[in-house]
Amino acid sequence: MATGRFVIVGASLAGASAAAALRDGGFEGDLTLIGEEARLPYSRPALSKGYLRGQERFEDQLVNPADYYGKQRITVRLGARASRVDPARRVVELGGGETVPYDRLLVATGGRNRTLHTPGADLSGVFQLRTAEVTASLRQMGVAVSAIEGHPVPLARVLGPEVGAVLAAIHRDQGVELVLGDSVAAFEGQGRVERVRTAKGRVLDCDLVVAGIGIEPNQELLAAAGALVDNGVLVDPQCRTSLPDVYAAGDVANHLHPLFGRLRVEHWNNGLQHGRAAARAMLGGGEPYDYVHSFWSDQYEHLIEYVGFAATWDRLVFRGKPESRKFLGFYLKDGVLRAAVGLDRGGDPEDPKSESELKTVAGLIRSRARVDPARLVDETVELSRLAPAPA
Ligand SMILES: Cc1cc2nc3c(=O)[nH]c(=O)nc-3n(C[C@H](O)[C@H](O)[C@H](O)COP(=O)(O)OP(=O)(O)OC[C@H]3O[C@@H](n4cnc5c(N)ncnc54)[C@H](O)[C@@H]3O)c2cc1C
Repeated sequence: MATGRFVIVGASLAGASAAAALRDGGFEGDLTLIGEEARLPYSRPALSKGYLRGQERFEDQLVNPADYYGKQRITVRLGARASRVDPARRVVELGGGETVPYDRLLVATGGRNRTLHTPGADLSGVFQLRTAEVTASLRQMGVAVSAIEGHPVPLARVLGPEVGAVLAAIHRDQGVELVLGDSVAAFEGQGRVERVRTAKGRVLDCDLVVAGIGIEPNQELLAAAGALVDNGVLVDPQCRTSLPDVYAAGDVANHLHPLFGRLRVEHWNNGLQHGRAAARAMLGGGEPYDYVHSFWSDQYEHLIEYVGFAATWDRLVFRGKPESRKFLGFYLKDGVLRAAVGLDRGGDPEDPKSESELKTVAGLIRSRARVDPARLVDETVELSRLAPAPA
């Protein structure tokens, strides 16, 4: 379909990427982008990194240049919250009662930060954000930081205890006090937070609290319209929800991946790629969204790059010693390579201009390679030459 009325709710990364991909893909009809924020679509990662530290400008985070939308005849409705989708009438209702008709609708409403409801969470000085990279940024700004984490090491669930231990050591070297295997029992203070009491009885004096305990998907808009939801809006490999001509992409979408099964991820790279994939599907393309996921995280001067997806694994092997803080880790399940992590090693798997170890690994993951762990570990074996192990 190259004409008609396409509407996108969620004017951020996935939504703005989809809008651009629709125009690039030849869509000539009416295109409306609806976003509740008052700002043009921007990328969020800098909010916990350079922008937070005052080193990067907001203008540099825009998904598309400010004049792009006008040039591309994209109607951008900012400060407009979609309050209802009526799939029978094919309209989106805005907060003020206005309706916007659609032939095809993409919902890219992302997620909102989970909030702590611990006693004292409403004290001034307690900020509820989405992310824990703030620890590294605040340290870099000279702030004394204590980080409370329920697991025995940071990022244990995603990267495992071995890699988490390396990250813990990096944080400690930077002067962060890690309070691990504990949780917040209460925030205390007279009107403003002065201390945190933990479940294990620690009392930490503080001037400021940042709670970064993840996000939950903004799925209510489509759930109320009758779409199937389960930890996000359920979409098929073509980004289609269970409602006719309604698509979802980005953090809000729980997608059926040909390699990894059902998953919902909260990564910038996925927001970009999933938005584009949704645009292709809205234009009638039938190819599945089989992107091999990747994400990055900045921790001080260190860069973590992760490719693939492994909710669980039965083997984790390293190329390079973890304690050297420059290594690749490979996550295998039933002999199949599912994911890999690089700490200051492996390159950017998304860089179209250069080859890298992690780009090669992405290919191995895509091919569901059964790789001999001994060869993964062996520095003398080039990753590009890794033949599948005999079955
Ligand atoms: C501080 C921070 C740091 C991050 N750092 C990294 C990183 O280092 N690496 C990485 O891979 N990822 C990182 N991420 C995650 C990444 O930014 C997200 O995965 C990405 O923003 C998802 O894009 P999205 O478009 O799906 O959703 P979002 O960016 O959440 O955008 C959704 C948009 O929809 C709007 N919206 C919601 N409901 C409605 C409604 N009813 N009507 C109208 N508009 C609505 C919201 O206001 C929002 O603008 C970070 C995120 C944050 C917040």
